[in-house]
Amino acid sequence: MTATEYDIAIIGAGIVGSSLASHLAPHARVLLLDRDLAVRGSSGHNPGFVGQLNRLPPLTELARRSVRAYSTVPGGFENSGCLEVALTKPELEMLRARGALARASGMKATLVSQAEARRLAPAFVEDCVGGLHFPDDGSADPKVLAKHYQAQAASAGATLLAADVLAFKEGAVETSEGVIKAKRVAVCTGIWGTQLLPLPMAGAVVVGQGYAYSSTRRPRTASPIIRWPGVQVYGRDHGDRDGIGSYDHAPVHVPTSDIGGHSTAASAWNKAFTGALARALALLPEQTAARFYGRTLAGTGTEDAAAAIIQAREAGRAHAFNSLFQVTSDGYPLVGRVQDGVYAAVGVWVTHAYGAAGVLTDMILQDMGKGEEKDEDAEIRRVLDPLRFAGKDVVDDALRTYNDIYNRKK
Ligand SMILES: Cc1cc2nc3c(=O)[nH]c(=O)nc-3n(C[C@H](O)[C@H](O)[C@H](O)COP(=O)(O)OP(=O)(O)OC[C@H]3O[C@@H](n4cnc5c(N)ncnc54)[C@H](O)[C@@H]3O)c2cc1C
Repeated sequence: MTATEYDIAIIGAGIVGSSLASHLAPHARVLLLDRDLAVRGSSGHNPGFVGQLNRLPPLTELARRSVRAYSTVPGGFENSGCLEVALTKPELEMLRARGALARASGMKATLVSQAEARRLAPAFVEDCVGGLHFPDDGSADPKVLAKHYQAQAASAGATLLAADVLAFKEGAVETSEGVIKAKRVAVCTGIWGTQLLPLPMAGAVVVGQGYAYSSTRRPRTASPIIRWPGVQVYGRDHGDRDGIGSYDHAPVHVPTSDIGGHSTAASAWNKAFTGALARALALLPEQTAARFYGRTLAGTGTEDAAAAIIQAREAGRAHAFNSLFQVTSDGYPLVGRVQDGVYAAVGVWVTHAYGAAGVLTDMILQDMGKGEEKDEDAEIRRVLDPLRFAGKDVVDDALRTYNDIYNRKK
């Protein structure tokens, strides 16, 4: 279709592929391809929580680099802070240890009393024994960010093309719009990673998670994003409504064989989410929870709450949905060289996307003879190696990590 030979074709224009395109476009002839440039993959459904501290230091570093970049994009990152809430004394001890880890990593984190936790987030926090406040965290808007990076790439000369990639081989990408010449390929296709690169990408296992939005309300004073790490719940103020999610349920695995049936990262509601969501909503002050159910449920049990969630969903009063993303058995995404001229970045969270794309950019530019990989990133490159799971069946191990998103148990 086009006589241009691109230095690199980036497949997938979610937060990861779009970031990579913006990094590379000033240095190379870049083609950014997506079957749907409107950002309807995981990035389009992501509720935007960005907590930078991870037990795995390379991920904390990638998060810091990403937040630094997101903060410069208008509407891309809101520095509202993050409040982690403890419901029991042992949870408070766990937060105390996380606070010490944060400060040792050069991050700000302050242990706060019950009264202070309530003052910081009155619409979310009721019962608690204290909390840990991270003032530098906040929420991202991955759609705004991906669109921004797409525009930045285009203004630096990249070509954006809406096309389905069917396959690629040395020097050519076969698409729904014809065959395109490209010297290199970067696969940034998120949950669809196994379709174009079956073997190495099998380490990034696709799971579903439910998230619910309340009915709309008048904006109130902004509060930090909230996590209840002991009960695996997170919530936030989305401006004109609230949102809450829970991973307090058995992992809902989407096998590789089913991925082709998903044209977006949104999927059918799974009944495993309903009970988890009902337990999550029980943590909120009654007035806040009522906006999710569409009515007051004071004094009723989890089963009534679950029924109310279903009714509110069906009546269109609350928007609860299932969306898909990936987990790996060691907590790291898969980012790097797959073979000569073929790169991958899948299983990457929004929290780490811009930083991870930067590390991959250095690798690609080095291979093009236009730069050098940074010595200080050697450990990051090692842990992200996309071939580390090749030939291993790690699905069960990956699913076991589902309930440990900050890698506290590693
Ligand atoms: C409910 C939920 C909660 C989450 N919470 C958080 C959170 O709190 N913090 C956080 O950091 N992350 C969170 N995540 C994870 C995060 O959203 C994802 O890891 C991230 O968005 C993945 O970005 P991506 O660019 O790799 O993939 P995507 O955004 O899915 O982009 C991949 C793109 O590839 C395109 N594509 C695929 N195959 C082809 C093909 N053959 N040809 C052409 N185009 C193709 C798709 O159309 C898509 O646009 C959450 C995700 C979900 C769903």
